[in-house]
Amino acid sequence: MKPFQPDLVYFEPAALDYPLGKELYEKYKHTSIPVEMTTSHNRITSLPGDTELEKYRIAKRTLVVGIRKTLTFDTSKPSAEYAIPLATGCMGHCHYCYLQTTMGARPYVRAYVNLDDIFQATDKYIAERSPEVTRFEAACTSDPVGIEHITGSLKKAIEFMGERELGRLRFVTKYANVDSLLDAKHNGHTRFRFSVNADYVVKNFEPATSPLADRIEAAGKVARAGYPLGFIIAPIMIFDGWEDQYADLIHKLHDTLPHVDDLTFELITHRFTKTAKNIIEKRYPKTKLEMNEEERKKKWGRYGRTKYVYQDVHMEAIRVHMKTLVEQYFPQAEISYLT
Ligand code: SF4
Repeated sequence: MKPFQPDLVYFEPAALDYPLGKELYEKYKHTSIPVEMTTSHNRITSLPGDTELEKYRIAKRTLVVGIRKTLTFDTSKPSAEYAIPLATGCMGHCHYCYLQTTMGARPYVRAYVNLDDIFQATDKYIAERSPEVTRFEAACTSDPVGIEHITGSLKKAIEFMGERELGRLRFVTKYANVDSLLDAKHNGHTRFRFSVNADYVVKNFEPATSPLADRIEAAGKVARAGYPLGFIIAPIMIFDGWEDQYADLIHKLHDTLPHVDDLTFELITHRFTKTAKNIIEKRYPKTKLEMNEEERKKKWGRYGRTKYVYQDVHMEAIRVHMKTLVEQYFPQAEISYLT
């Protein structure tokens, strides 16, 4: 799979005051990709497309280069203390992606070029919690590896955190273009996680992301580069043959990866809200994603949102199966959570 290149690029004028903004502007001006200016990365009104669906698809292939103005970081419990904002949005088309609900009408990919401001804010958060370690998640609102070949920001963040005694970085990706990150001076302070899943899930619900085999190969490279490694298996779904397919996945990981001591698994079962279901059905009308409320158990979430999770009996089956597999093939690994 070729690394992503946008069909259209917008720049905020202020982005050109920063080295990365300038560099990207010069780069794209000399390509055939149309370049436009926009007053704010939060309000792009001139996106092409006749229907809402068309606009959505075009937006997903549009890069907006801007400034991160809000330097108050969101919290990112339970896997980190804060979300570090390097980018927002993703060119992937995972049907179940929660960005569909959180990004609403602005699904374009925004890359922030005022990295020094972002890093300064990061230092402030680290100092506040000293002598405790502070963890920052870089993939809360995007897949930062997916655009790394364009921005190089993730490598800078990795090296920045490598120098911070009390700072740790983590992110997750479905993209395999990791080569530029292998020689980063990470100092063991970045946990590099890959999102993997059963073949059925990857093939049916994760268009425009790297194939599973490529992600696993990339995970091997990352492990050999000495990064603490992790896998997120999410969403875990029940479908015909799910048990065998998840067993195949764990076997594949086991057969392909070198031995890694510092390894984590985060396991999350499929769930949805009514709002997400409505959006998904509009954007991916032919999706095979199973979202039948009748067959699910209702769970009250934060902010009064009701989530539809698997029934207890299915949850338990998933829990037992996945835990057994991980413990059997990766006895040294930590299961951070299974929810
Ligand atoms: S790769 Fe991740 S962020 Fe991108 S669409 Fe898929 S789930 Fe969402």
